[in-house]
Amino acid sequence: MTEEVAEETAKVAGDDNESVVVRYKEVKKAFGDTVVLNDLNLDVKQGEKVALIGPSGSGKTTIIRMLMTLEQPTEGTIEVDGEMLWHKEVNGELIPADEKHLRKVRGKIGMVFQQYNLFPHMTIMRNCTEAPIHVLGISKDEAKKRAREMLDKVGLGDKINNYPSQLSGGQQQRVAIARSLVMQPKVMLFDEVTAALDPELVGEVLEVLKNIAAEGDTTMMIITHEMEFARDVADRVLFLDNGKIAEHGHPRDVLVNPQSERLQSFLGRFN
Ligand code: ADP
Repeated sequence: MTEEVAEETAKVAGDDNESVVVRYKEVKKAFGDTVVLNDLNLDVKQGEKVALIGPSGSGKTTIIRMLMTLEQPTEGTIEVDGEMLWHKEVNGELIPADEKHLRKVRGKIGMVFQQYNLFPHMTIMRNCTEAPIHVLGISKDEAKKRAREMLDKVGLGDKINNYPSQLSGGQQQRVAIARSLVMQPKVMLFDEVTAALDPELVGEVLEVLKNIAAEGDTTMMIITHEMEFARDVADRVLFLDNGKIAEHGHPRDVLVNPQSERLQSFLGRFN
């Protein structure tokens, strides 16, 4: 497949705007003279699970940091749930977005990092209810109800009155996942969520993510080095190489039957 064709076909459902939750259109990102992403075109559909794989430095984190508005694209546009991230349209003209608009768009996005960053002085329940109460403005009772449901989902319903230091790293990361889900984001971003965990704690976190994925409705973009997990959980795998989507498709094709030497050699490291 040529690069143009690959990039074009990475835009799934281009004519089905209703179901597209995240859209990158001709996105370029450079730091100074260094171009780290070039002409990125990507649509992620409602409920879709997309795994991003690729060597260190290939641009995976930059893709999701731009979605979090932590980085601004040098060129091109990014949309979440039909809203442009850095611009808004007024009378048919694009003008730079203000902080209020950015906050609104950010509210549609949940992110879980390697470092779970729970508030150490708050119970697990409060860790999960602070943002919904203060950012979304929902009632305490509603926030608690949602938090209980999500903590049950990640298997920690019995820990609501504990403090983070009383939990293992794997359990803390599961709380961080629940905390994000309580906000009911349009898309959940996961950046190597198991990378900082002791190996024996990785499985429980991946299991939780698999369960959430299996429920179907959560749109997920997942950066991972866990290839077996990517194969099990993803509808689509994107192989990033040198700031481009070099290969993409069903996990069966990308992970089991890689076309390029670069991907074959990358996957070879995990065998
Ligand atoms: P990955 O997540 O695939 O490891 P990244 O998206 O983190 O890759 O990084 C892609 C490239 O962009 C790397 O070469 C990295 O050094 C560079 N990069 C990332 N952030 C910055 C920054 N703030 N300033 C300069 N270069 C950066």
